[in-house]
Amino acid sequence: MKFGGTSVMDSEAVERLIQIVGRNSSQNTVVVVSALAGVTDTLTKIARHAVKAQAGKAMNQPEAPDEKHLDMTDEAAVLTSGLEHRHLMMAEELLAGNDVLLRETTDIVKQLFAKLNEIVRVISVLEELSDMSMAKILSYGEILSSSIIYKAMLKSGLRCAFADARSMIVTDAKYLKGEPQTDIICRKVPELLDREFLNNDVVITQGFISATADGAGTTLGRGGSDYTAALIGMAANATEIQIWTDVDGVHTTDPRKVDKARSISVMSFSEAAELSFFGAKVLHPATIQPAVEKNIPVRVLNSMQPDRQGTLILRDDGVHENGVRAISFKENITVINVFSMKMLNAFGFLTRLFEVFGKYGISVDLISTSEVNVSMTVDSESSLDGIITELSQFAAVSVSREKSQVSVVGKNLKETTGLAKRIFGAVSDYNITMISQGASDINISFVVNRSDLTAVVGSLHSEFFE
Ligand code: ASP
Ligand code: MG
Repeated sequence: MKFGGTSVMDSEAVERLIQIVGRNSSQNTVVVVSALAGVTDTLTKIARHAVKAQAGKAMNQPEAPDEKHLDMTDEAAVLTSGLEHRHLMMAEELLAGNDVLLRETTDIVKQLFAKLNEIVRVISVLEELSDMSMAKILSYGEILSSSIIYKAMLKSGLRCAFADARSMIVTDAKYLKGEPQTDIICRKVPELLDREFLNNDVVITQGFISATADGAGTTLGRGGSDYTAALIGMAANATEIQIWTDVDGVHTTDPRKVDKARSISVMSFSEAAELSFFGAKVLHPATIQPAVEKNIPVRVLNSMQPDRQGTLILRDDGVHENGVRAISFKENITVINVFSMKMLNAFGFLTRLFEVFGKYGISVDLISTSEVNVSMTVDSESSLDGIITELSQFAAVSVSREKSQVSVVGKNLKETTGLAKRIFGAVSDYNITMISQGASDINISFVVNRSDLTAVVGSLHSEFFE
């Protein structure tokens, strides 16, 4: 069971977590927790302020007390003490009534902050923030949350052990986005769990943080707690992986756009992957791949409404429902049109074209071609000046901004007769710039004006789901 930042954001959330875990205690459970909501961002800021502080001092006035310098170190200090206060408050709220546990927890939190402050000070003296130091600083978020929640679980009477994820989740030395070493993980996780489950029902550990084989701290990258859950689930051969978040699973479309959006009860891994690539944000499917490959079901659940059913994600061959499952979109994209007579009956043109995109490191989402024309979509943030200049040397290029990309996602869409008529019938009042039927058989995408997006998604949703 993995609980994300919002599912551990305050003491009420943690009480709910403990209840959820308690209901399940007939089975051995590993609980993976994130840092409290917002803490990883704050730690990032603290690290940046710390290193900027000295840089500011060196550049401006080496001798005189430098106001900018003071401001910046102050800022790191203010943020750190705010975090300390938040964690101490949480400990107090959760452990009130048990003086021993409360004192132990308060001591742990204070010691952790003493160490964190020391690291921050060293960074500011060395004027250097390496990835290694950043990973070290970021690890405090998860260590703090898991330490406090562990004690609260003990107080509640759960038979629970604390495990440091860094002793199981081994990665290479890319400190901020370590590559998990699956073989080692598959050895270490069962070793640790077999030992701890002899006397406990629950093992609590941290998401996101990991270490090299030599024990240097690394992380799995932002949002990496889902990845931790999948890795542990895979290595432990779990019966199920539960991702507890703050929505009822994966929805038919973004509930912020369409209020009739509802959660999807079962979906395949490929469908989930399409949704995330095209803008849904509940979880990143790449991170659950280790589990799905091993055929371990992944359930996405709402910790605020634990009785709702959520979404079950299964290996592709486990899902039999065909047809449209969800509508996703990317709100702000840019369409690039490339026209050249040289394409007619020629070869090598596309190679040349995509080489330019490769050179500038820009990823293309949708592509559609005719004899003499290629249209592509890219994220609006991409800086296109260089690309356009180079492309213009061998083709006519036009760019349309303020566009949105809409994708209809489902299984066996190509085999569903009459689907195009339904999709484009539902949006016949709006102008469509470009259409691409995904080669994967799992999505049909098209581009509309950004100003029409809400209406387009609304009509499609009512056509297929209302
Ligand atoms: N706390 C980490 C982050 O915010 C990991 C996670 O929440 O999954 O990126
Ligand atoms: Mg998170």
